Amino acid sequence: MSENPVRAFVGRSGDYRWDGVELLRYKEEGSVPFRDVTRQTLFRRPDMRGELRYFEVAPAGYSTLERHEHVHAVMILRGAGQVLVGQQVFQVSTFDLVTVPPLTWHQFRAGANSPLGFLCMVDAERDKPQLPSGRDLEEMRANLAVARFFSTKGD
Ligand code: MN
Repeated sequence: MSENPVRAFVGRSGDYRWDGVELLRYKEEGSVPFRDVTRQTLFRRPDMRGELRYFEVAPAGYSTLERHEHVHAVMILRGAGQVLVGQQVFQVSTFDLVTVPPLTWHQFRAGANSPLGFLCMVDAERDKPQLPSGRDLEEMRANLAVARFFSTKGD
């Protein structure tokens, strides 16, 4: 990654990109369930204990449903969608803040016609995400709002 003090925002043709920042497919490894998500690591330094990433979920896409010990501090930067945090579903849009506490199931879904882009701050050293078992999913679906969220095909 470039060590320039300033890396300019290069939002050409509607994309949210930064000069010298690589655009990665989200979690290339394995067969983790997600759809149409990209990741850009904006800040990662060995002398800092946090990382700041920008994720973008394409319209009707969604991030992996997961939980882990580490916390997410999120600011929505682009578009709108829905977020599952534990047993609650929230409508979110630009500049909303989302905190995901430890070991809390979470998933980000873009609206049908809107991307959902967000900054996500995490600990640089963090545990691996856990995926839900069939039983976990069953328990989550027992909550009607959560069941609706899972069956959403965008807004
Ligand atoms: Mn996560």
